[in-house]
Amino acid sequence: MTDKIIVHGIEYLIKRTKRSSLGITIERDGMVTINTPLRADPKAIESFVSSKTIWIRQKLAYKSQTNRERVRRDFVSGQGFLYLGRSYRLRLINNGRVVNQKGVSTSLLLHNGYFELLEQEKERARKHFIKWYKKQTEEQLRIRIPRYANRIGVEVKDFRVLDLGNRWASCGKKGTLNFSWRTVMSPIQVFDYILVHEMAHMLERGHTKNFWRTVSRVIYDYEEHKIWLQEHGAELDI
Ligand SMILES: [Zn+2]
Repeated sequence: MTDKIIVHGIEYLIKRTKRSSLGITIERDGMVTINTPLRADPKAIESFVSSKTIWIRQKLAYKSQTNRERVRRDFVSGQGFLYLGRSYRLRLINNGRVVNQKGVSTSLLLHNGYFELLEQEKERARKHFIKWYKKQTEEQLRIRIPRYANRIGVEVKDFRVLDLGNRWASCGKKGTLNFSWRTVMSPIQVFDYILVHEMAHMLERGHTKNFWRTVSRVIYDYEEHKIWLQEHGAELDI
C-alpha cells in the first residue's frame, strides 16, 4: 500500500511493509520513499520526515548535481560509449561491413578500441547497443556467478538480463537473478559488487548487519564501489 505526503515542500512516497522501523530511500530519479511499518501513525511519519529534512535536501541537491552530469549520448562518430568502466568512441561505417571474429556480419561491434556501427543502422543504434550490452552482461554473469556462488553459499538457478529501469539487479524467489544490461558499463569491480550484493540477498532479503558482513567477506572494499555507483550511476546509460 502506498500513499504520498508532502512535508516542507518535498514529496514523499509512503511504502508500508512488514518492518519495525522507519527508513528513507532516495531513488536515482530523486523520488524519496519512506519505508514504514504497516501500522505506522501518520503523525509519527511526519515528525520523522521533518527531522530528516536537512539531510534529505542535501542528498537531493547532490543527486541533481550528479544527474546533471549525465551524458546525452548521440549516435554519431566520436561519441563515447562505456563498457566495463572505459569509454570507447563510436565509428560509423558506411559502405562497408562490420564483421565479428567468426567472420559473421553484424551491425555493432567493439573492434580495435572503437564501437563500429553500420551507418545504415544508425536509426536503430540504441536497439543495437542494448542488445550488445545484454550479450556482454550475460557473458560476464556466466563466468562470474560460479566464481561467487560457493563463497557466498548460494545456488543461482538461472539469470536474466533485462531493463530494470532505475535498478541494477534484483533476485527472484526461486534462485533467479535479474540483471540490468546497464551494469556492464561500470568497472568490473563495481559489476562484481552488484553481483555479490544480489547474491547475498539470496541469503538475507534485507540490508542487515549480517547481509553487509556477507558482502564484505567477499568484497572487502565494497563501500568504495557502493559510493562509486551513487556518484556515477546516472552516467551508466545510453
Ligand atoms: Zn540490496
